Amino acid sequence: MHEDHDDHNHGHDHHDHHHDNHYSDMQARVKALETLLTEKGLIDPAAIDVIVETYETKVGPRNGAHVVAKAWSDADFADWLRRDATAAIASLGYTGRQGEHMRAVFNTAKTHNLVVCTLCSCYPWSVLGLPPVWYKAPAYRSRAVIDPRGVLAEFGLVLPEGKKIRVWDSTAELRYLVIPERPAGTEGMDEEALAGLVSRDAMIGTSIAGSSKISAAGSPEALA
Ligand code: FE
Repeated sequence: MHEDHDDHNHGHDHHDHHHDNHYSDMQARVKALETLLTEKGLIDPAAIDVIVETYETKVGPRNGAHVVAKAWSDADFADWLRRDATAAIASLGYTGRQGEHMRAVFNTAKTHNLVVCTLCSCYPWSVLGLPPVWYKAPAYRSRAVIDPRGVLAEFGLVLPEGKKIRVWDSTAELRYLVIPERPAGTEGMDEEALAGLVSRDAMIGTSIAGSSKISAAGSPEALA
């Protein structure tokens, strides 16, 4: 079961900010409930893991993939996304908690963008769903800033030496969505097909669009 879904903020409301080895009240309750239901044979923890993984890798990130595909297909929408990502994304119906203030960062031939939350695990829920375990791990949070190129290599993404990597540190106030580069040879594809090329990791920046060798659920051992 996931442990980090309470609305902790590192900006203003510090009362609910937990540290890595402690459960918040809500997490402790969820854990207790899960244990009780499991012991009574009412639920199967493996089934819960499957549901959580579905929201992490399939349901949630489809929203973001739609945003990216529309940005690739519609120059006006891409401009809007650059100017006011919150409004452009809301126009597609993706709003809500942890998505109130969004910024879209566009990968280019010269620059690759990578998103992290160094303090905890702030994540754009409205477009990406639930954060993966590695995103919340101390190793990723510290190393993404210190050695982004090394971290990306562990995800199987080796960028050319000349490509600059910009690391964006999320906060309770501002969440980032990476708009990957549109893959070559996709000119004839419609939005739905294009969205199929956009993985969750590509929108965090630990992968690129259309890169099938990177599993959406995969995480390098060193970061797990
Ligand atoms: Fe955070």
